[in-house]
Amino acid sequence: MDIAFKKFFKGAGFPKFKSKHKGKQSFSIPQNVLLENGNLIIPKFKEGIEIVLHREIKGTIKSATISVTPTGKYFVSILVNTNAEMPIKAPITESTTIGIDLGIKDFAITSNGEVFENPKNLRKAQSKLKYIQRKYSKNKGKKTKKHLALLHEKVVNKRKDFLHKVSTKLIRENQTIALETLTVKNMVKNHCLAQAITDVSWSTFVTMLEYKAEWYSKNILKIGKFSPSSKTCSCCGHINKELTLKVREWTCPKCNSVLDRDINASINIKSFALKNNLSGEHTLKNRNELPTLVGVMTYEAPSPLGKG
Ligand SMILES: [Zn+2]
Repeated sequence: MDIAFKKFFKGAGFPKFKSKHKGKQSFSIPQNVLLENGNLIIPKFKEGIEIVLHREIKGTIKSATISVTPTGKYFVSILVNTNAEMPIKAPITESTTIGIDLGIKDFAITSNGEVFENPKNLRKAQSKLKYIQRKYSKNKGKKTKKHLALLHEKVVNKRKDFLHKVSTKLIRENQTIALETLTVKNMVKNHCLAQAITDVSWSTFVTMLEYKAEWYSKNILKIGKFSPSSKTCSCCGHINKELTLKVREWTCPKCNSVLDRDINASINIKSFALKNNLSGEHTLKNRNELPTLVGVMTYEAPSPLGKG
């Protein structure tokens, strides 16, 4: 509740009760979580719950969160403390830094010119989801509801898989990643489904980059959304105020450079971030303040609801 009110005073809206029907249903167990012979043992459930381990647990278990998806799959995420020393991060240099521009047409474009397209199968699944959602809003039948939940889960899983692949690749290949800060306030206002999904993808993606950067000792540099990253010429710094969203390629009136809108933006993000970092405007998060979380693991328990 304290967190909810702190968010409310920052402008996030009045706290609501957790819904019994909507959203993710979950609860956390802050202590006394044990794993014994493939069984999860939690307070008041001493006989244990059979689980499927996806990964071996290393370190001491801190807490667990049990959740159920709308399709009736039960999961438990376990937080562990491995006491592992964090390796020292390499210094931020120009040549080992990459800038990323997150877009709508393509998912991400790097300052090296690499383009990560939104996966086709995800788009396909999304449009199917949209169709079923419309059908469900007209007729709230049980069958449609189940179909909707299944489709939704499919989209979420596909998206997560894609985001993991892109974030891992970028983290592995680069020492420092520069990106724009995404404003949550603007995202909430958007009611269009495709846009809403893109927004969720962006913030999940940034979160993934941030924790993977910690795992692999890489740096993340963030710049404010206010920086005119698309409108500034990455060659001479001239700001082209007339540039509209439709223009994909433009020639700088001052230095005559031909600029690809998205690549230009990611090059600008890179140089803004490097400049800000030198001036100390956006310093890196103090690593000592980061939680000792090293991994979150998910285990799937057989659904008690069965497959029917
Ligand atoms: Zn120019």
